[in-house]
Amino acid sequence: MRKEIDYHNYRYYVLGEPEMSDYEYDQLYKRLEQLEQEYPEYIKPDSPTQRVGGEPIKAFETVEHSIGMLSLDNTYSEEEVRDFDRRVKKIVGVSVKYEATLKVDGVAVTLNYADGRFVLGATRGDGMRGDDITQNLRTIKSIPLKLLTRDRGLLNIEVRGEVYLPKKRFERLNREREKDGETLFANPRNAAAGTLKLLDSREVAKRGLDIFIHTVPVAPGSRYTSHYRTLLKLRDAGLRVIPHLELCTSIDDVFEYINKWKDKREDLQYEVDGLVIKIDGFTVRERMGHTTKSPRWAIAYKYQARQAITKLKNIKLQVGRTGRITPVAELDPVALSGTTVSRATLHNEDEIRRKEIKIGDHVIIEKGGEVIPKVVGVVKAKRSGSEKKFHFPTKCPVCGQPISRLPEEADWRCVNSSCPAQIKGSILHFVSRPAMDIQGLGDVLVDKLVNMGLVRSFDDLYRLDADILAEIERMGRKSARNLVNAIEQSKQREFINVLYALGIPNIGINASHLLVKAFRNIDRIIKAKVDEFSEIAGIGEVLATSVKDYFKVRENLKLIRNLRKIGLRFEAEPKKSVRTQLSGKTFVFTGELESMSRGEAQNLVRQRGGHPSSSISKKTDYVVAGKKPGSKYNKARKFEARIINESEFLKLVRSR
Ligand SMILES: [Zn+2]
Repeated sequence: MRKEIDYHNYRYYVLGEPEMSDYEYDQLYKRLEQLEQEYPEYIKPDSPTQRVGGEPIKAFETVEHSIGMLSLDNTYSEEEVRDFDRRVKKIVGVSVKYEATLKVDGVAVTLNYADGRFVLGATRGDGMRGDDITQNLRTIKSIPLKLLTRDRGLLNIEVRGEVYLPKKRFERLNREREKDGETLFANPRNAAAGTLKLLDSREVAKRGLDIFIHTVPVAPGSRYTSHYRTLLKLRDAGLRVIPHLELCTSIDDVFEYINKWKDKREDLQYEVDGLVIKIDGFTVRERMGHTTKSPRWAIAYKYQARQAITKLKNIKLQVGRTGRITPVAELDPVALSGTTVSRATLHNEDEIRRKEIKIGDHVIIEKGGEVIPKVVGVVKAKRSGSEKKFHFPTKCPVCGQPISRLPEEADWRCVNSSCPAQIKGSILHFVSRPAMDIQGLGDVLVDKLVNMGLVRSFDDLYRLDADILAEIERMGRKSARNLVNAIEQSKQREFINVLYALGIPNIGINASHLLVKAFRNIDRIIKAKVDEFSEIAGIGEVLATSVKDYFKVRENLKLIRNLRKIGLRFEAEPKKSVRTQLSGKTFVFTGELESMSRGEAQNLVRQRGGHPSSSISKKTDYVVAGKKPGSKYNKARKFEARIINESEFLKLVRSR
């Protein structure tokens, strides 16, 4: 089971290609937890359940780096990159290959593996000595506690990487901190650094850090001559190697890479502030050597800072799903790192006041980790005297009803539950992937449906009819039918997703999970007392109050009755032993599998109630043919066993 969980961790956190649903994974994980509770003597430190430590530590130990962690030379100038290339060629000749990678703005760390097990992780510190942050790094699920390889060279290896906080996680973290009245992190890198410094790994685990491995300081054996190829091997061994890495045969290729990512980096889920150019060959690197500060075989090229100055023409208000009102600056369009920006967020009333922003001001805007740029300050020198102070309105700009602001909150809210802005927002949340997962209901269509009065609440979605939908502009008959089907299909979604889809304030998918696990059905959640919530680890007072408040509203109870009648699931599936499509079936493997070893594949079969066998007979149900299948392949045809390929096999494994 540990192996299986490790494998699914790898699919999910490293490759981003999960093979099972989150729910299935959680079930598997919980089963392992249960077993380990029953048989604690079998718990191993590298079990996937052992990532998070117990009590917080008092301080970090200092560790000496066996290989110094030098920092790279930085430049903003293309000319200096060409100079670098000229220097390299002078020393090592003309045919040099470069490895180009994105430079992720995070915190440098080093990881040590011994006999395939993650044994030590440390910060850079002063380059010679850093903090032992092994316990914190273990909570990062994309760091394998055990490598998925038998390659001896790789089992005892030191690798370096960048720990970072994905943009979305960063925004969420700051939103939570804002709510709790804590100081905000300036950028994702600060947030990642602050998180790694926490002494309680349980807190670290909640933050959602991730890692990219980008450097192997020493070749893991004489067979490994290319750094680039070594990284690819390490990816197969389970490490989350930095994506989009490229091998360039000339400096012009490097510039092509630089230009390619200049704008595209904005679309990535992590902050990229430049790129790193490294000589690919390990021996060539040695010949180049290093200075006391940095290696001579690598250079970091940084993109220009992403700020611009423009005029703030007006301030408009946006109303979100929960009624939250966000002031948005309307700007004179300005080019900023490849895109034209005409709007930027001002966060809330207090921020406008704190930054002393007036309408007509010239403002500095910045594109950080957020999708929408933000206004960071005012250029007061450019004021003409005609700037106007902004007064926060007292009515919702969409529905015209009075708005309110709680003393402990930074935001104004529209509290009218039939405000069209809120309806649209909550419908979009309802159909989103972790919720009801209804595809084909986008922004524009929801807008139309709400404006036309066809959809006022979630249950209206289930009454939409293909003919009416088809009449709506630009919606063909076929896509209308597909959409109606998708809506119908969503009735199969599990209670966890349904509960999340309701959009109860503060109840994310994780909290829904906890609630469903503890209460099993909606009636028990509705009836639950506040102290029953507080018994659930992970459900704090804020969440408990949110849930209680939500179910106090009569319309919400009515909505749930209606959705129930329609057929949505409001109770968890009864616990039962899982029967899978593999149950009772006999499997034979032939040839090489790409995603796992044969042993792992046989384990998967066993875990799902099937029988792996090494020889084909009349009893064989499936023959799984990998690459270069052997004689069994021909034999299989004789016995009329079903021959399937690897991806068909994985599909079977995934199915329930
Ligand atoms: Zn409103």
